[in-house]
Amino acid sequence: MMIGKRERRLEKREECLRGLGVSDGIFIGCVLRLHTGPRHIYRATLDEKEVVREMRRLRAAVRLARRQLLSIRSRAEKKLGADQAYIFDAHLLLLEDRKLLDDIENLIRHERVNAEWAVKVAADRILAIYDEIKDDYLRERGSDIEDVMQRILVALSGGQTAYRQLTEDAVIVAEDLPPSTIAELDFEHACAIATGAGGWTSHTAIIARALGIPAVVALSEIYRRTRTGDEIIVDASRGEVIIHPTRATLDHYRLIAHKARAARQSFASENVRGPLYTSDGREIFLRANLELPAEYEGVSRYGARGVGLYRSEFLLSHRGAMPTEDEQVEAYVEVSKLAGEDGATIRLFDLGGDKMSGGLIEPERNPALGLRAIRFILSREEVLRTQARAILRAAAHGRLQIVLPMVSDITDVRRARRIIDEECARLEDEGRQIGNINLGAMIEVPAAVWVAEHLAREVDFFSLGTNDLVQYLLAVDRANDEVADWFRTLHPAVLQNISRTLAAAARAEISSIVCGEMAGTPLYAVLLIGLGATQLSMTTSSIPRVRHVLAQISSVDAKEIANECLECTTADDVEELVRLRFSAKWPHLFTPETLPPLRN
Ligand code: PEP
Ligand code: MG
Repeated sequence: MMIGKRERRLEKREECLRGLGVSDGIFIGCVLRLHTGPRHIYRATLDEKEVVREMRRLRAAVRLARRQLLSIRSRAEKKLGADQAYIFDAHLLLLEDRKLLDDIENLIRHERVNAEWAVKVAADRILAIYDEIKDDYLRERGSDIEDVMQRILVALSGGQTAYRQLTEDAVIVAEDLPPSTIAELDFEHACAIATGAGGWTSHTAIIARALGIPAVVALSEIYRRTRTGDEIIVDASRGEVIIHPTRATLDHYRLIAHKARAARQSFASENVRGPLYTSDGREIFLRANLELPAEYEGVSRYGARGVGLYRSEFLLSHRGAMPTEDEQVEAYVEVSKLAGEDGATIRLFDLGGDKMSGGLIEPERNPALGLRAIRFILSREEVLRTQARAILRAAAHGRLQIVLPMVSDITDVRRARRIIDEECARLEDEGRQIGNINLGAMIEVPAAVWVAEHLAREVDFFSLGTNDLVQYLLAVDRANDEVADWFRTLHPAVLQNISRTLAAAARAEISSIVCGEMAGTPLYAVLLIGLGATQLSMTTSSIPRVRHVLAQISSVDAKEIANECLECTTADDVEELVRLRFSAKWPHLFTPETLPPLRN
């Protein structure tokens, strides 16, 4: 059927899809669609003499798939580090699994079917077993089997799986990007990613962040609504993609992208080392939030003053299992070396909730309120004991402290402290070398704010997790796009809770650090300074822009504005006030794009 001009124009209407931005930056380019989903496989019946030829075809395809995987593995190791390349060891093992290959060959031999059909049937059988598995982690390994099977199927047709050598810059669009496909991409030209599936902790997100590629995931309609060659804007900072942008939209985004690039270059040329003072002389410490080894070089590159938050649960994501005590010691010593004199704060495993569960937590009806973080480690004491021992041992080699995630009651702290003390004594009895550590509490549950005065007498420091504080205070799932409009960081209740926590810490003369995403956003960082914070921890790449702004504002001005915000009654009022005051006081630092949006 011919498509009329009018319909074609309609089809190309500008469309904005919202998803989850899992990295930073904007890219404007053309779509390259990757089909990574299932293919249509047909059954063919072979005659006797074709069976031998079909077996040879299968074995040749498996050899080709193996060669491809070996080369992907070495590429991944160079680009992403050994920690990421482990995924492909599992794929290689699957390819070498004699039982699986025997099953496929038996189907060809006895059912006299083509190799493609035999691969599909054998894979479906295994996947059906995986679907029944209760354990999340193991069930998800089914995707590795699908990935390997797809590779054999493509190899059977004599093909390469992905677009290894791209000639032009492209935005990779796919329903999902299995790890082997993403690692196979040509990152000289694969400049952004937009996928239907995925979440913050999916492989796509982890690898995109590690490589600094703009990526938006959880865009349910993206694959259906795009064609290779379509013009597209990927705005990872806002978690949006715009398909078929109009000229005006393109101009607007080119300007923002240009400004962001220019700002990055000018920040990069600023002196990022040495102490940071506000214009009225208050010293501010910008520390690093770390998850993956790929981010480690950012600590010195961006001049972070130590590691403010090491999300240790990521050790499970790239090892795929609970690390042993010795493996943990090695990881924490590495982090302490990066942090140097300024030290590193290791957060005990924050598993469960919307985060990874490491296959250790049964599916829950209401996971955000379930067996997450400190609750999980207190209920699995051996996990806490092993981690505590590892941190204590690593502390003999560098400055480390421990922070407890999701504390809601002082009893949580007392129980954890008792166990840590017991392990400390045991290590001493064993004659092991250990270091001194401070113990802190994450303040991210409203109840902890309410008892902050008392809590401050039980711990050495507070670490304010604003991501969860907003989630739990406003009862808004931080990962649910449907309620994103209710996730109001500038809700007066949020600001009052932060102010109250910082004040409680100051009165008890313990230190406090803000380490949620608020800290890495210049506008919020100014308000945090106004509310009394002096230590902020963030993704290392955010340090230059936060530093650039804080060096030019006075903490007295920030305090004046923050106090006014505390008097507001609604989030809209705070946002409006912030827009007015910031643009009047610091017009050279805050543009309409960096200020809160106007709401009706
Ligand atoms: C937070 O909740 O603000 C925080 C820093 O921890 P996470 O984002 O890992 O929950
Ligand atoms: Mg948190």
